[in-house]
Amino acid sequence: MKKDYYKILGIPYNAKIEDVKKAYRRLVHTCHPDIAGNTPEIIEKFKEITEAYETLSSPQKREQYDSIMKLYKYADNETQEKPKKTKEAKKEEPKEEQEPVKPKKENTFSKMREQAKTVHNKNIFSDFIKGLIKNSKPKQKKYTPPKIDGKDITTHVTLSLEEAINGTDRIVNILHMETCEKCKGRKFINGSVCPSCGGAGEKSKYNKLTVKIPPKVKQGSKIRVEGEGNKGYNGGKRGDLFLVINIENAQDIQYDGLDIIRTIPIAPYEAVLGGFISFEMNGETIKMKLMPMTYSGQKYRISEQGLEKDGIKGDLIVTIKIDLPKKLSKEEIELYERLKAISKRSVRES
Ligand SMILES: [Zn+2]
Repeated sequence: MKKDYYKILGIPYNAKIEDVKKAYRRLVHTCHPDIAGNTPEIIEKFKEITEAYETLSSPQKREQYDSIMKLYKYADNETQEKPKKTKEAKKEEPKEEQEPVKPKKENTFSKMREQAKTVHNKNIFSDFIKGLIKNSKPKQKKYTPPKIDGKDITTHVTLSLEEAINGTDRIVNILHMETCEKCKGRKFINGSVCPSCGGAGEKSKYNKLTVKIPPKVKQGSKIRVEGEGNKGYNGGKRGDLFLVINIENAQDIQYDGLDIIRTIPIAPYEAVLGGFISFEMNGETIKMKLMPMTYSGQKYRISEQGLEKDGIKGDLIVTIKIDLPKKLSKEEIELYERLKAISKRSVRES
């Protein structure tokens, strides 16, 4: 006789899946080898409990198990009340014979069952039962657990201005949930909670991934990398990976078609005197001439230093911002004092 999983979990035959789970959780608290003691009997008992839970908590496995149990009961009844059952078996025989007779089908079901019972090899018996279930219920719908898509993962990526303008290949380290390698997602090993994943059946793992970041990305924009999120369940598809773009000094860059608009700070004396200034752009140094008396917000256009598309190059538009020093030396302050003293014109007089 096969083990009665319902008795093992102490639940009725019509118990709902929640009751199965509740009963199992209760038993884990009292019968787990870590709690009840690591004796062979307790380990064996807990193995049975886990086996019972795994079967009864899966609607598919439970249905199969219930069918087998029904056949066992049927077989037991038959041996007790042989005459009655043989009559029934005979009743069914004409039906069978209407079909083209195959030599092996001459055996009635009950004879086959008798044979199976005498064979003490469990595998042969269960294979035989499986065959019976398949043959007797060909049209029955199989239970398929619902597909669950994997969750998306969001991570932040910081780019330099140059990387944001030109695009780049960025290696990102993404924390994925993966099936536990030790227990293969089964949560238990020999009746004990898997020490590797703590019974979760899955573990988080870092994966390195190279992501191509296209040129001209904007501050705060999201780049979607399909299928690089967490894994799905029951055939559900993988989630996506989203990279949220953070650009260093993002406030200093804008785009207008192929033109790049950059804000460049200058010192107050550069604004007054003019002269050459230089700054970094696309990995090269750009030198430009400032006119004397350049004001804050004044724009300079440098041709063909913008983005390139189909052989056409945009311009770089420099917006000037007069940057006041946060800290001045004693000498600088003295010079400003002197400048104040000798200045004849007030800025508030016309
Ligand atoms: Zn595990």
